Amino acid sequence: MTSDPAPVPPFSAPYAPDDRAIAARLLKTAGLGAEREARIDRTAGRLIEAIRSSDDRLGGVEDMLREFALSTKEGLALMVLAEALLRVPDARTADQFIEDKLGEGDFVHHETKSSAFLVNASAWALGMSARVIRPGETPQGTIGRLAKRLGAPAVRAATRQAMRLMGSHFVLGETIEQALARAHSTGGPRYSFDMLGEGARTALDAARYFDSYASAIDAIGRAADERPLPDRPGISVKLSALHPRFEATGHGRVMAELVPRLIELARQAKAYDLNFTVDAEEADRLELSLDVIVAVLGDASLAGWDGFGLAIQAYQKRASDVIDYIDNLARALNRRLMVRLVKGAYWDTEIKRAQERGLDGYPVFTRKAMTDLNYVDCARKLLGLRPRIFPQFATHNALTVATVLELAGGKDSGFEFQRLHGMGEALYAQLSEDRPKLAYRTYAPVGSHRDLLAYLVRRLLENGANSSFVALAADDAVPVTTLLRRPADVIGRPDDANHPNIPLPRELFMPQRKNSRGIEFGERMALRALVSAIATEAVPVSNGVAGATAEPVNAAVAAARQGFVAWSATPAEARASALDKAAELLEDRRAHFIAFLQREGGKTLDDALSEVREAADFCRYYAAGGRKLFGAGEALPGPTGESNVLRLRGRGVFVAISPWNFPLAIFLGQVTAALMAGNSVVAKPAEQTPLIAAETVGLLHEAGIPEAALHLVQGDGRIGAALVAHADIAGVVFTGSTEVARSINRTLAAKDGPIVPLIAETGGINAMIADATALPEQVADDVVTSAFRSAGQRCSALRLLFVQDDVADRMIEMIAGAARELKLGDPVDPATHVGPVIDSEAKQKLDAHIARMNQQARVHFAGVAPDGNYVAPHIFELSDASELTEEVFGPILHVARYEADRLDRVLQSIEATGYGLTLGIHSRIDDSVEAIVDAVQVGNIYVNRNMIGAVVGVQPFGGHGLSGTGPKAGGPHYLPRFATEQTVTVNTAAAGGNAALMSGEE
Ligand SMILES: Cc1cc2nc3c(=O)[nH]c(=O)nc-3n(C[C@H](O)[C@H](O)[C@H](O)COP(=O)(O)OP(=O)(O)OC[C@H]3O[C@@H](n4cnc5c(N)ncnc54)[C@H](O)[C@@H]3O)c2cc1C
Repeated sequence: MTSDPAPVPPFSAPYAPDDRAIAARLLKTAGLGAEREARIDRTAGRLIEAIRSSDDRLGGVEDMLREFALSTKEGLALMVLAEALLRVPDARTADQFIEDKLGEGDFVHHETKSSAFLVNASAWALGMSARVIRPGETPQGTIGRLAKRLGAPAVRAATRQAMRLMGSHFVLGETIEQALARAHSTGGPRYSFDMLGEGARTALDAARYFDSYASAIDAIGRAADERPLPDRPGISVKLSALHPRFEATGHGRVMAELVPRLIELARQAKAYDLNFTVDAEEADRLELSLDVIVAVLGDASLAGWDGFGLAIQAYQKRASDVIDYIDNLARALNRRLMVRLVKGAYWDTEIKRAQERGLDGYPVFTRKAMTDLNYVDCARKLLGLRPRIFPQFATHNALTVATVLELAGGKDSGFEFQRLHGMGEALYAQLSEDRPKLAYRTYAPVGSHRDLLAYLVRRLLENGANSSFVALAADDAVPVTTLLRRPADVIGRPDDANHPNIPLPRELFMPQRKNSRGIEFGERMALRALVSAIATEAVPVSNGVAGATAEPVNAAVAAARQGFVAWSATPAEARASALDKAAELLEDRRAHFIAFLQREGGKTLDDALSEVREAADFCRYYAAGGRKLFGAGEALPGPTGESNVLRLRGRGVFVAISPWNFPLAIFLGQVTAALMAGNSVVAKPAEQTPLIAAETVGLLHEAGIPEAALHLVQGDGRIGAALVAHADIAGVVFTGSTEVARSINRTLAAKDGPIVPLIAETGGINAMIADATALPEQVADDVVTSAFRSAGQRCSALRLLFVQDDVADRMIEMIAGAARELKLGDPVDPATHVGPVIDSEAKQKLDAHIARMNQQARVHFAGVAPDGNYVAPHIFELSDASELTEEVFGPILHVARYEADRLDRVLQSIEATGYGLTLGIHSRIDDSVEAIVDAVQVGNIYVNRNMIGAVVGVQPFGGHGLSGTGPKAGGPHYLPRFATEQTVTVNTAAAGGNAALMSGEE
């Protein structure tokens, strides 16, 4: 790797600034004057006319979209089918999948509106399949006889064929050689080849992508003619394909490993003088990508080459800053660079991610017109930076093209346009005819159809959206004037820059409550600020907890009994305000609590931040719920002359016993729910995490919870037992093991006096089912997160993975490869994925289980743990799921294979565990998902995602059977369980008669 000093400081710009300020700036320069605007209208109008009059319209995607619009069931079913069908190896699952998807639409009556061969072919093939398998019917049904006569294989073959046809339209070739041959045969001027595939999850994947880029560069270089740059072919690379953990928190590792790889590829591209472009990916990877690019470009061996480039996304608010930065870099290195300006392909993902993370704003615009406006502004800037920057405008939008042409001042050289293969054909054909000097490049995906489909779906999604230009241009009902409407006119004024229906991430749950505040680790400044704030926090060393004498228990219960009187009489609004205040304090002091969670609880940064957020969410959620439930009471209907009101009120002294694995969130969740319901509380935290509990109680007192209402008693299980056995308690809320929950239950049952409620949340042998339609990369991500994050020390963690036999080898290999990339170590280091287990006792237990499994099971992966209380991730394959008989609370994943026709056995094994906490399902077959959901008694089911990290109020958490009593924490039924009910009936006519009735008018 180069040791040259960086030519420019790291990129830095506000991650998610206010849209209004940007709009104010952009709107000022948007207008170009009447004459130039008229020219834009003429050029764009002509292009739109060409698009609309072309037989093939904008090419295959648009035809597909018109035929099966995404707003129809057929369109959606088709997309899901396209995404998964070709990767399903076994006939049974393929048939089931096809039947499921065809059942979702009305393909039979779908009249083809387009003459395009592609659409006809797929409509025909799908229509034929739909005729054979009718919606709602199975191959065994009446119409199924036809399927039997024709044969399911024929149906399958026809549908697969349709998918292949779609694939071949958007992929230039399955190999680079085929693609090059096809590129030459079209005589097309410029190409940028893209090697298809998902991002790398394993070191092996990354090496494979590297090799495929390297051999493609060779092939492209050898086939290239003598024309100089920019008129040369190129290649586009994705950094996420070249490294299995391309993430901001792993900065050091990415720089050490990825930079040399990229330099090697770039040198190779330089040797052929090709255009070598780094694609733009997700917003949280932007700073890291730029760091990599700077390090690579700074390598002296690349001097003198003008072909290096990168893509910049105009939907990102930082786009303009990135351009400035890249220009500075080019100056500093005295190089020329190529810059592809795109709008951006991950908009929906960006919005979701920012909402999940509770960011202050979005890194992307929320109105499409803002993206368009910014694109034009960035285009102007890039054109002004020529020749140091060679701009490449990638768009299929005729108005955007016409505007860029106008900005270029009528000169057709010194920049190029770009389009995707299979799209924008009519537009660029017309443009080439009108302005032959203008250059455009085609971005050409290369790869097997299996790899193409995820790419295709992205494109279909992006362009099928009704805000998209290609979708609107393809719709004759949309007037040309609408397509020519300027983004500045659509926005109008800065105050309208935000989408009215997309709330800011922190306002997601308004008006009920604020979303908890998070940060984006991909924003260097935010990450650094948090890490250094954590570093300044002093965390005392725990002296352990006091012994097990009865005095503190008796004293605390007695004090809490006294405190109950005043607290239960405190208005619900005041109680709720104290909880809201606690949430604010927690967020203000998050660094303090993260420091405690890391040092006492062994939590990684990611886990600790999530936990603080969850704790704040609990406070606000119960405050909001409590205001409703514990306010004035509910008036009930009844006879005249009487008022009837149902009220909820506190029960008395609630004992809250919480575990060490969420020493802040579960502790606080239990306590705040009990308090909100009007109870006084004696809280007994786990003996492993007394400091966090003490800090939390201190915070609650500061927030306004009277000391008399909330008491902390530290100690081990004996103290817990004494509390539970105390005669004066009115309820117990407990989270921990099933055995302890049982013993609490027995103690409560054995007591004389009132029968008090127990709310218990315990563990589970949580399973995940992955069938052959699932995307292996997604399964690998979700399995690794669910099984190994938090060192597997979550009640929700995945313990037992069932994989369909037909795909098991590949999936297990990918999961093991992804597990190998996890970094174990000091949780304070942001790069750490897996921290220690809680104590040496836990480690011993887990090590013993690993030793047993090493004997009994097939080992797919055995990580290596550093010294200390660390247990490395392990993956064991069981010959039968029943071999796992108890919850193993650590980073140990058990895998069992199942045959596609024996899903029922899988469900039986899950039932047989007796637990019912969490379940993951990875499948594209909705019928299977529904059947599984209906069949199992499991509290939290997650489909096509990971199965941990339940969000308060979004995924209320808790299970059945051996997993707990319910009601679910963070759900609407939790608070009432802490309360007692009271009905107050008042005879309003008692004092002499029913005046209201008598004076009632007709
Ligand atoms: C040659 C080429 C290379 C590409 N390389 C990349 C790449 O490296 N990285 C990448 O991310 N993309 C890349 N793309 C994809 C590109 O981002 C999309 O094709 C592009 O978004 C379509 O833009 P358009 O001008 O054709 O369509 P238009 O329909 O005019 O614009 C669609 C754009 O608007 C955005 N949008 C939609 N709704 C909203 C909203 N409510 N608020 C804000 N924005 C909204 C969409 O996300 C999309 O970016 C590339 C495209 C081409 C043609």
